[in-house]
Amino acid sequence: MKITDVECHVLLEHDFNVSATSSAQDGFIVEVHTDEGISGIGEADVNPWIGRACVEAPGTHTMGLGLREMLIGADPLDPRSLWERLYVGSAMNGRRGAVIHAIGAVDMALWDIAGKAAGVPTWQLLGEPARAAIVPYASLLPPAPSYAAFHETIIEWTVRAQALGFRAAKLELLYSGPYRHGALDEPDERMTETIAAVRAAVGPEMTLMVDVGYAWDDVDRAARTLRDWSGLNVFFVETPLRSDDMAGLARLHEADTGIRIAAGEWLSTRYEFHELLDHGKADVAQPDIGRVGGLTEAVRVAELAAARGKPIVPHLWKTGISVAAAVQLATVAADCPFIEFLPEQLTESALRRHLSIGTPALRPDGTIALPTKAGLGVELDRATLERFRIAEA
Ligand SMILES: [Mg+2]
Repeated sequence: MKITDVECHVLLEHDFNVSATSSAQDGFIVEVHTDEGISGIGEADVNPWIGRACVEAPGTHTMGLGLREMLIGADPLDPRSLWERLYVGSAMNGRRGAVIHAIGAVDMALWDIAGKAAGVPTWQLLGEPARAAIVPYASLLPPAPSYAAFHETIIEWTVRAQALGFRAAKLELLYSGPYRHGALDEPDERMTETIAAVRAAVGPEMTLMVDVGYAWDDVDRAARTLRDWSGLNVFFVETPLRSDDMAGLARLHEADTGIRIAAGEWLSTRYEFHELLDHGKADVAQPDIGRVGGLTEAVRVAELAAARGKPIVPHLWKTGISVAAAVQLATVAADCPFIEFLPEQLTESALRRHLSIGTPALRPDGTIALPTKAGLGVELDRATLERFRIAEA
């Protein structure tokens, strides 16, 4: 089998709002086609114009080859060796960041092809099943025209998520710092106020996580607020400090606030997760499958986290294609208690709701079944793709 074409799609929701802290408003989709009629799909959480350029830019020397050029004519059925070739061939421009995210989308599509060609769900090519079912947590980010409106809506959404069957939910309390959401600009006490109100509304059983979206640049301030949450039973706090502040993350870990620190959504490659877990002392690794470099690299991150006795909880803020990839990973990852999940009923993202057909769905018991369809098990909804596709400039 040979790769005949690599197509990139740039998607953008018509009513996207640049002041909203949600990357689900755009889409970078890759389709890899072969001479045997099997095609694969993948995506990454990266600015789609940048992702497309990373794939399509022609190479100019041995240290900076073009991804698309390296892929055309190659055998798609060994994604791990193609990953190595793409990583090494693009290293002077890549190694981290956008080029790795683009490789991630390609790698996801290659694993889709490999599963389809073998007639098995992709996870069967990645490892042994490590669990009987997958537990998604509802990731909740309501619109924020004001604090009062956001506070009330996130309580209501968490109660609705619980009624849908979710055993866990994450509150996106983007109240402070450079990535505040909508009209929010709130003192830290309001985070505690919202968590307490949600906890009172859903009772003691539901697992609650909190994403503060890089709110703090001061370890003592972060530790003070996290200590205020004791008694609210918060499973983890996500990205409390800036992404590259490994020393700060380690100090916050040592401050022993009683709340696990989760991070890693923006990182690329296993090398950055080495740093996050060993130097940043993060308690929970959150690889985003596209961004980290695809299923090939996400499996390696799961292995290195498990070797340190730490769980992964994959980040996921995109469409059903990423959901399909995450359930493959979660099936084989040794320690993966949850995957992130945007409930179709509780997200503003039309791309999440409509771009894929056959998306793994929540069952009433709060779990997702292990995948059984060949490949990733999802297909593109062509009408939605056309509706949001930005035509080639
Ligand atoms: Mg996050």
